[in-house]
Amino acid sequence: MSGSFLQSHGLSSTNTVVLPRLRSAFVAATLACGLSGAHAALTATVSVVDDNHLIAGLYDQIVSHVGAALTNWGQYIVGDANISVEVKVTDSVVRSAGASRASAFIREQNGIAVYGAGTAYKINNGVDVNGDAADVEILLNPNYARDELWFDPDPFARQALMPADKTDAVSVFLHEMGHAIAFNGWGQLPDGKLPGTYASTWDINTAFDAGGLYFTGAKAQAIYGGAVPVTWGNNYHIGNPVGVGSDLLNDVMNGVVFYRGQRYSVSALNVAMAEDMGVVVQAVPEPQTMLLMSFGLMILGLQRGAWRRLIPARRDCQ
Ligand SMILES: [Zn+2]
Repeated sequence: MSGSFLQSHGLSSTNTVVLPRLRSAFVAATLACGLSGAHAALTATVSVVDDNHLIAGLYDQIVSHVGAALTNWGQYIVGDANISVEVKVTDSVVRSAGASRASAFIREQNGIAVYGAGTAYKINNGVDVNGDAADVEILLNPNYARDELWFDPDPFARQALMPADKTDAVSVFLHEMGHAIAFNGWGQLPDGKLPGTYASTWDINTAFDAGGLYFTGAKAQAIYGGAVPVTWGNNYHIGNPVGVGSDLLNDVMNGVVFYRGQRYSVSALNVAMAEDMGVVVQAVPEPQTMLLMSFGLMILGLQRGAWRRLIPARRDCQ
């Protein structure tokens, strides 16, 4: 598979293949976030891979923010799971990118093998299609992390006053987690043409019409009021700077801009799109019925290990 399953956010439309370097070290940390009660319990194990220690002061914050983003998405998805996330610090992306590391075969449809994101499959079905390997891969540019991102003093509560000149890190990780859960695939630009006889659950929910790609899932259309404009030149995102989809620039999965000083949240449209893509979703509990969230952070410390090449999501069909 030559194409990457990673999606960048923002104006960058790069499909990134990560060229590895020998690792000197990595820092691993574990974040346990549990929602007690009747709803899903998600925990996250987050590894920050930063060979050159470029963002050494940010590991704890990245771990907690990725965990908060995953917990946030977990409110909407049926199932319990521990999701392992690898955050790779690299200048191979301008800002950030995210993807599931594996895909799960869902069904055959009109001669096309349809795959869903391994992460959602694991949460919904309790089956980890790539075993002990990381479920989610996030690429993070070190300068972007250091100079642009704002780390919330409480990434779960998200109540603190945020500066007007920074981009909210929880929002960025919510966005990348969206790619890992469903917003991804192999459709080519500009028309979503498939590269072979396989497709993602996103790909089969898109159609090209009058110069643009649209997400046509029924639940999403019901929420949006019609087919949802996919970002021009930036598949797997929604919204455009002008014209169709310009009303979606405040959506966390928009492919145009993250406004500084603004928090983004998973939207009803995002959840509807995920449901169209086969993710089993649930109603979000009202705040007063949510039990206290337990939150623990454990630094596992430096480890050395045999690392393999970071690769785009493996395809079970190959
Ligand atoms: Zn993106």
